[in-house]
Amino acid sequence: MMLPCQAPVPDATLLDYWARDGVDGEAIDRVEEHLFACGACSARLEQIVALGSGLTALVRQGRVSGIVSRAILNRLQRDGAHVRMFWLAPGETVPCAVFPGDDVIVTALRADFSGVESVTLSVTGPDDSPLSRYEDVPVSGARGEVLWATPAAVVQQMPSMRLELTLTSAGVAPTELGRYVLEHSASTSS
Ligand SMILES: [Zn+2]
Repeated sequence: MMLPCQAPVPDATLLDYWARDGVDGEAIDRVEEHLFACGACSARLEQIVALGSGLTALVRQGRVSGIVSRAILNRLQRDGAHVRMFWLAPGETVPCAVFPGDDVIVTALRADFSGVESVTLSVTGPDDSPLSRYEDVPVSGARGEVLWATPAAVVQQMPSMRLELTLTSAGVAPTELGRYVLEHSASTSS
């Protein structure tokens, strides 16, 4: 039986450790030391490695969706997945469309996350109809970002519409951090 871990290495750290992005030498040593002694976290890392080698394949199958980390995004781009990015600052409205050959659409939401540890992303469609909601998304820093991935095949099916995205800080006193609009145009060729 595997002993439960008292101080699990967070998933995001394991992912970054695996992708070797944004991790300094000291942090790598700490993770390695922990993994050496901890079967539970080693098993989780193995799952991530198993996912990683098939990550681009998963994306092409439309199975990568939701919030993704910067390490995963970098890895996808390095592995040759066709990632179409849309960057939005608070208050911005950006036209968005999907093109043949795209694998995944990633909407990057910038905001000032100073003093904020995690946020809620809610996405609404026409008439404020709720489309998606993601809670406890970890963020860091004044120049952070939240990366929201949607398979291109899903976006291709969407009619032209206006999507409103809202980031709110999680916790006892939620504060709105940013509101963004994607003006989606349906693909003309089909
Ligand atoms: Zn552990």
